Amino acid sequence: MKTLDKSRVNYAESQAFLAGGVSSSLRSAMKPVPLFAAAGSGPRISDVDGNEYIDYLLGYGPLLLGHSNPAITDSIHAALKCGTTFGLQHTGEFELARRLTEALPCAEQVVLSGSGTEAVMLALRLARAYNGKRKIVRFHGHYHGWADSIFTSFPSSDMRQFGSVLDSDNQIFPGTEGQSQQALEDILLLPWNDSAALEETLRRYGHEIAAVISEPVMCNSGCILPKPGYLELMRKLTEELDIVMILDEVITGFRLSLGGAHGKFGLKPDLVTIGKALGGGIAISAVAGRKELMELVGNGTVSHLGTLNGNCIATSAALATISELSKAGGAVYEQLEQTAVRLVEGIRRLLVKHGIAGIINQAGPVFHMMFTDELKVEDFASFNKRDAARYTEFAAGLLEEGVLVRSNGLWYVSTAHGDQEIDETLSAMDRALNTLR
Ligand code: PLP
Repeated sequence: MKTLDKSRVNYAESQAFLAGGVSSSLRSAMKPVPLFAAAGSGPRISDVDGNEYIDYLLGYGPLLLGHSNPAITDSIHAALKCGTTFGLQHTGEFELARRLTEALPCAEQVVLSGSGTEAVMLALRLARAYNGKRKIVRFHGHYHGWADSIFTSFPSSDMRQFGSVLDSDNQIFPGTEGQSQQALEDILLLPWNDSAALEETLRRYGHEIAAVISEPVMCNSGCILPKPGYLELMRKLTEELDIVMILDEVITGFRLSLGGAHGKFGLKPDLVTIGKALGGGIAISAVAGRKELMELVGNGTVSHLGTLNGNCIATSAALATISELSKAGGAVYEQLEQTAVRLVEGIRRLLVKHGIAGIINQAGPVFHMMFTDELKVEDFASFNKRDAARYTEFAAGLLEEGVLVRSNGLWYVSTAHGDQEIDETLSAMDRALNTLR
């Protein structure tokens, strides 16, 4: 058995001073104990007890280039020589904005914020200010951050403990205690990937709907791809009915391609929100989109605030990230795909070998592994039939074998993961499946 004594002691001690002992509620779900990290390098992370793990948690997604990527670290060191933040403009902001408009097909202009949650907040405001309507359509199983106006119905196994409620009949529940119920009054909650429900709702309530917000791939619940034509229908209807289409690319942005999921799928939403991978581990997010909407920030109609927005450390990390991902004409994405496919196929073989029913849905370097008797997981209803508790137990077993994964089944792969890590991971999984009940 791995010794996790120091993590246990640290966790107990931190609970005395740090409410809950963690800095983001999800992290306390980790079994057998929330680990305390010592250092990360490339695809690996070590904890304070001296254990080493191959890391597929990857900071919940930002570390697409692995831990301590030299290009990102060097650019941060270089930026630090001049300072950290000025409350004045600096050239890194518009250089980054220019790179973003070059990379993201829908981006004519950009604003920079600190987190995915803030980016989503701004995108919703832009939409309402643009067309003067109030309602927002969002979907079951999608997560768009934890702002009062949008945080609801996110039944992930690690989130549920905090009071999120799985609703079965489109009822909307606040994601947490203390949240204003009124803030959710403008939300219409729909099943995703259901063209008929989308069309019916948009045609019926379109005169009241300011925006539709959707993950382009339902990464937060099963890594489910959009059905052919579904996002295109969303685009067509929103255009026709003067509704702003927002793709929340906080996970998929820079992960599925340099142009995000919308670039990969050949779509042009009105707005996208990006975060996570953009900063390579430093807090930064962006809203990007059509000039007509973005200009509402430019002309002061919509406020966009934040003391640390566009700070030098964040912009230099993001610029280094984009440079790294642009290398060799995007060959990085082929490598990421190959690594993920090799890993996923290996896992599928192991499930067969151990006689365990499971599904893995993969979209580039992100995939969701589920224990389920379903033959396909293509919507939220089938996603909810998975055995989440068994997977959480399995994640703890993998940790024991030296592989760090999120306990809800979502895996991230980085450019730093290579054949050696995949081989080691599959051997570790073979052992973990042996002991799984
Ligand atoms: N949108 C999506 C699709 C996300 O997955 C997340 C976070 O996981 C967010 C928004 C919120 O981002 P952040 O945690 O940076 O506030």
